[in-house]
Amino acid sequence: MDRVKDKVVIVTGGAMGIGKSACLLLAKEGATVAVTDLNDKAGQEVVDLIVKGGGKAKFWDHNTADEKDAERVAREVFETFGKIDGLVNNAGIEGPNKPTHELTEAEWDAVQAVNVKGVFFCTKHVIPYMLKNGSGSIVNLSSIYGLVSAPDIPPYHASKGAVRLMTKTDALIYAKDKIRVNSVHPGFISTPMVDRFSKSAGATRDDIALLHPLGRVGQPDEIGYGILFLISDESSFMTGSEVVIDGGYTAR
Ligand code: NAD
Repeated sequence: MDRVKDKVVIVTGGAMGIGKSACLLLAKEGATVAVTDLNDKAGQEVVDLIVKGGGKAKFWDHNTADEKDAERVAREVFETFGKIDGLVNNAGIEGPNKPTHELTEAEWDAVQAVNVKGVFFCTKHVIPYMLKNGSGSIVNLSSIYGLVSAPDIPPYHASKGAVRLMTKTDALIYAKDKIRVNSVHPGFISTPMVDRFSKSAGATRDDIALLHPLGRVGQPDEIGYGILFLISDESSFMTGSEVVIDGGYTAR
């Protein structure tokens, strides 16, 4: 019950999918959760669920691609809860599933704006509060698509590869400040993102399941537990690590 007791944790894109799971698990284990998302209704529902279960949470409307929003959310979370211990850079989009020669500059930029610049903005504006705190844990959602390739969604692959190395760079810069930074690399997980992706790829859920040696897609909690571990002090000797949770996808 108390794996992250009294920690204040921001989860971006917390309204759905993996982010929602992380919010619920962190709250169940004693964290105060700042749930942030573009989707106010679904985000508030996550907060209501947490509060109904006796946990602590508050919703922030937040576009991670907007630096002013990142500054405001970090400041308001600090003013509301008095400190920031954890940040889960979870918000992400898959972008259009087109081959490289058919992509427009705008389509490319839109994916980088959320998946790469969003992680930069949120990290940049949370770090000063973690420095004040004397410690912190940042978890960046990369992907198996940030480790190995596949013949689809090129801007997404580029963005998740960038997140993998941004994680290691920030881990090295802030290690002396006791701020740990790790990345999580999920295989295909049953979320609205994967529903959209399978439709765009003309693939069934079974086709996607069979890409994983374990023979199924993952569930959001199977990633949420990894995030919980990285935010908790149980992972206190981990920084700059890649936590791969992929049903064996990258083991081949
Ligand atoms: P999802 O699309 O199901 O949910 C994403 C959430 O982020 C939504 O609530 C959405 O409203 C929010 N969001 C999107 N853009 C935002 C923005 N600019 N600002 C704030 N919120 C925003 O996605 P998911 O499958 O839960 O994925 C979560 C993270 O995990 C993403 O970074 C994704 O790339 C990564 N990931 C997912 C999978 C998977 O199979 N689902 C695999 C590997 C990595």
